[in-house]
Amino acid sequence: MFTLNNKNVLVTGATKGIGYGIAAVFASAGANVAIAARSRADLDSAVAALDALGPGLVRGISVDVSDPQSTQQMAETAADAFGGIDVLCANAGIFPEAKLDAMTPADLAQVLDVNVKGTVYCVQACLDALTRSGAGRVVITSSITGPITGFPGWSHYGASKAAQLGFMRTAAIELAARRITVNAILPGNILTEGLADMGEDYLAGMARSIPAGTLGTPEDIGHLAAFLATDEARYITGQSIAVDGGQILPESLDALTG
Ligand code: NAP
Repeated sequence: MFTLNNKNVLVTGATKGIGYGIAAVFASAGANVAIAARSRADLDSAVAALDALGPGLVRGISVDVSDPQSTQQMAETAADAFGGIDVLCANAGIFPEAKLDAMTPADLAQVLDVNVKGTVYCVQACLDALTRSGAGRVVITSSITGPITGFPGWSHYGASKAAQLGFMRTAAIELAARRITVNAILPGNILTEGLADMGEDYLAGMARSIPAGTLGTPEDIGHLAAFLATDEARYITGQSIAVDGGQILPESLDALTG
């Protein structure tokens, strides 16, 4: 049960943070893992670290997910390296802060280009390979921010993360006949390089708002992604699952101290 041996997995945004955690779980479970991001130097060091985790192949592929030609090349390179793609983890995303009265059209376009269009381009680029797999899996990294919660400064980001779920539901219907499932993980606050940039005060405040009392780890997301990628998860599609230590549950701050 639950083997990922011989699965060919492509994870975008996987040089660090949640994407790296997802890639590490798949590599440790014996899958062949291709990681994709923009920085070649970061790809090389992440590949070296992932290589030590399991018996599968590991490859690093340069991509800008907001560019459809680049995602096409990424998918072809991954499929050539492994002989196919069984699992796409569309994880690459950005979360720059911009309050509404200061947000420029360029700020909005950048977030939508990477987070929304990037997700769609990656799925489109991998479609033929996922279809050939016969058990294709798409796992999208969305967020609790947007689909469930909000936070000042991230209205554009929240819109992009909710848009991913709208895309997911119809993609799940369109691709079901090809035996491809499409699901989304909604991380809460996960301690990544990107989140650490928000500063100590932000991280401490977030930890206080989580019933589990602590931020999550990238591997917490990776373990759900790995399960959704198994053959046993074949009947789960179009679903969004929060992995957040219970962060969305309290009705008020009193609920956390009561
Ligand atoms: P992170 O630590 O900043 O890492 C982002 C990764 O994405 C890097 O590998 C980065 O590499 C890559 N990337 C960024 N822009 C890209 C582009 N245009 N094309 C290809 N790769 C790109 O971020 P994270 O915190 O792990 O977040 C990852 C995902 O989880 C995002 O979708 C985010 O919305 C979601 N999420 C995070 C949290 C959290 O608490 N951390 C919570 C909810 C949801 P390069 O810069 O080299 O391209």
